[in-house]
Amino acid sequence: MTPVLYIVIPCYNEEAVLPVTAPMFSEKIISLINAGKISSRSRVLFVNDGSRDSTWAIIEKLAAKSEYFTGISLSRNRGHQNALLAGLTEAADKCDITVSIDCDGQDDINAIDKMVDEYLSGAEIVYGVRSSRKSDTFFKRSTAQSFYKLLNRMGANVVYNHADYRLLSSRVLKELAGFKEVNIFLRGMVPMVGFKSTCVYYERKERLAGKSHYPLRKMLSLAVDGITSLSTKPLRMITAFGFIVAVISFAGILWSVIMRLLNSTVAGWASIISIVCFFSGIQLLSLGVIGEYIGKIYLETKARPRFIIEKRTGESEDDRGSGK
Ligand code: UDP
Ligand code: MG
Repeated sequence: MTPVLYIVIPCYNEEAVLPVTAPMFSEKIISLINAGKISSRSRVLFVNDGSRDSTWAIIEKLAAKSEYFTGISLSRNRGHQNALLAGLTEAADKCDITVSIDCDGQDDINAIDKMVDEYLSGAEIVYGVRSSRKSDTFFKRSTAQSFYKLLNRMGANVVYNHADYRLLSSRVLKELAGFKEVNIFLRGMVPMVGFKSTCVYYERKERLAGKSHYPLRKMLSLAVDGITSLSTKPLRMITAFGFIVAVISFAGILWSVIMRLLNSTVAGWASIISIVCFFSGIQLLSLGVIGEYIGKIYLETKARPRFIIEKRTGESEDDRGSGK
């Protein structure tokens, strides 16, 4: 039997690009159905992440026009990762495979064919990996690449140059549902699930319309969240650094005692100021890192819902009594 595929697409203020890319997604579904690779019950599932523009209205219109489109709308903006998880959770019991992709057309949708082929030959997870970033600006490219390097160096193992374009089988989705954390970073969580995985390479294109929601500030915060929710390496680094500083301080104490005994101490304003500044800097930095983890624990113990679905495309029509 052919598998049911759900293409899950988070959308936040995407009214400019959605009308351009939506037909591309449905055409892809139809061509895969015609090729006999996926079931005719396959769908495109849009997740409206609390957009302030007409994104949801566009999704509703698409769903009314074609049976291949469905959508859910979150009660407010929760960010890309939460929106994606909402879509995956929604799709999990309706399908055999999901492919998550951004709605801006940057990720080459033709890679979906290869992903489905990999699934059909036994892979449970297929990562879409960017083979080149020629279309990105130098700044975006270098910051994004340092992002992957930093994550890996800090012990958060992610697939290099892989964002959130990936195929997951229902088996993986079921296991992923067991990851109850509130601070979610899917790129790090999916490899933890395990199972047979493989990569498919594609060229990243330019956004077809609209603009990016990931400026440097958001990317830095994604990196900090990624690291602190996947790894405790920064805490170890503090310990290691503390150890080194303690050894140096011990040598410093010995040196000062010897100098005192030799009666050659002088007024050491500069040295004292530098030592005070150095240590207060280190201590504040370390407290900040520890605080970051405590903040995460605080949020995890609250275990608040990761997303709240306000509407679904079929339902809202009934609510409004549009008579269909
Ligand atoms: N997105 C979202 N919620 C947000 C920000 C972004 O659902 O708060 C979606 C957005 O609509 C897009 C995807 O996440 O489909 C990736 O965002 P974007 O293209 O702006 O990021 P970039 O590709 O520039 O890193
Ligand atoms: Mg994009």
